[in-house]
Amino acid sequence: MVYPPELDDPDRRPPISSTPVRPAMPATGATTTDSALDVPSFAQLFRLMGRALRLRCPNCGVGAVVRPWATVNDSCSHCGFRFTRSSDSYFSGAMLANLAVAEGLFAVAFGVSLIASWPNVPWDTLTWALPLGIAIAPALLLPFAKVAWLTFDVAFRPITPDEIVAPR
Ligand SMILES: [Zn+2]
Repeated sequence: MVYPPELDDPDRRPPISSTPVRPAMPATGATTTDSALDVPSFAQLFRLMGRALRLRCPNCGVGAVVRPWATVNDSCSHCGFRFTRSSDSYFSGAMLANLAVAEGLFAVAFGVSLIASWPNVPWDTLTWALPLGIAIAPALLLPFAKVAWLTFDVAFRPITPDEIVAPR
């Protein structure tokens, strides 16, 4: 190994550890979940998706996951499941997926309405309706996106006992 001149003295070199370097883990009591992956059955998936459509807790199906509008509660009021399963940016993926799905659905709806009304397309109406729809669609779907994100995570990464806090 070649050392820079300032570390040429073996006594000044940093110690070489034989243990692998691990990423810094949060202290005990932090909100990171590191549970094993699992493949849910179709019955479990259908049950979980039913709960997600009602914006309910994926663990018990009773407590509300979000409160208006799309603010995620800390934990389930019924079973105590902690909804933010890792860092504070846990739901940022949900926001990105929501944007993609919402705009995709909007594009499909626009295409269908275009074909259905051809050749008398109401261009004047579309001029103001399109930007409005593009802005509103992601906002309307955001609560569902967050709950769906959490539900899929729970489906494939089952809840561990340390994720259950005392119900409030
Ligand atoms: Zn619950």
